[in-house]
Amino acid sequence: MAFIPYSRQQIEQADIDAVVDVLKSDFLTQGPAIERFETAFAERHQVAHAVSLSNATAALHIACLALGVGPGSRVWTSPNSFVASANCALYCGAEVDFVDIDPGSRNMSVERLAEKLEQAEQGGALPDVVIPVDFSGMPCDLAEIRALADRYGFNILQDASHATGAQYQGKPVGGQYADATVFSFHAVKIVTSAEGGMVTTQDADLAKRIALLRSHGVTRDADLLEREPEGGWYYEQVDLGYNYRITDIQAALGASQIERIDTMQAERATRADRYDRILADLPLKLPKRFVDRTSAWHLYVVELTDEAKCDRARLFAAMREAGIGVNVHYIPIHTQPCYQRLGFKRGDFPAAEAYYERAITIPLFPAMTDAEQDRVADILSRELC
Ligand SMILES: *Cc1c(COP(=O)(O)O)cnc(C)c1O
Repeated sequence: MAFIPYSRQQIEQADIDAVVDVLKSDFLTQGPAIERFETAFAERHQVAHAVSLSNATAALHIACLALGVGPGSRVWTSPNSFVASANCALYCGAEVDFVDIDPGSRNMSVERLAEKLEQAEQGGALPDVVIPVDFSGMPCDLAEIRALADRYGFNILQDASHATGAQYQGKPVGGQYADATVFSFHAVKIVTSAEGGMVTTQDADLAKRIALLRSHGVTRDADLLEREPEGGWYYEQVDLGYNYRITDIQAALGASQIERIDTMQAERATRADRYDRILADLPLKLPKRFVDRTSAWHLYVVELTDEAKCDRARLFAAMREAGIGVNVHYIPIHTQPCYQRLGFKRGDFPAAEAYYERAITIPLFPAMTDAEQDRVADILSRELC
């Protein structure tokens, strides 16, 4: 039987046409598709500014820089995330720390954050930036984190790499509460540009700074020039930036995909609802729902309960053996060798570690069929009961 991957991109003829159009045009990069993608993305997420980048890792890096992160800064994130959520702080020479998760949402716990802030205030070591992650596509507790940000004076850089199109309090993430929000368009994510990322913000100056750092810190913008232009060729490097640009080929794919986001999202939600029904009687903890937010359903993660007949390692092997592309999201970042060398230890963030021991990601993607979902459920049932 055919292998069922945990995620699969959905490419339609319109996407192919959009990419081919760019290949036949004058611009393969730095052309009109980039602005089209940014405008469509900003509109869909009801936010003033969207700056596209080569990937979300680059987006996290320069969003941190634009928010003033550097040597001596402190950045806190969730241990239950991809390593990029924390690496961006280290790229800037900042100190990184973690806030344990809420076992229900699997996102950064607001209670743990509040406790840690109180302690940090006493020790004179408050964070400069907090990076909450919308794990699996479920928005984090943005309003509560905003209240803490206002009280303690840190910036919020939301890692919504899983959450393109997700809703919080009835509005899309990306334009509310966070100072800046990062999205990923890697092929496994909600919408794809093969590789790609976006930063959204309501702050025009911040958007300008990110756009500057995306392209070497070089500008022709009269507002940013420090000297009088010497002629029509004139440009200045006003800061140390990078080449973190997306190409027009990628942006055309992204813009085409964004047009279908509502349908793709609805298909994911339908699949998630169906999993809730067909897995209800298995010894599994299913994803929690919240009344004030809707997940983008990047991932459907289940946790084995004490009643499960086998452990996670055996289940994983059996599922892979049966052609089901299960995965595990995430090995807690602080337990990675690179982070252990910074002084983090096992036991530092017990909720993230306990969650990790029991978590397994099962396949979910828009074009998944009932038969494929039933096959996943059958094998889960065979192994667990
Ligand atoms: C995928 C991902 C990233 C990195 O995205 P890229 O576009 O691959 O660089 C960052 N954070 C999280 C939570 C992710 O899942």
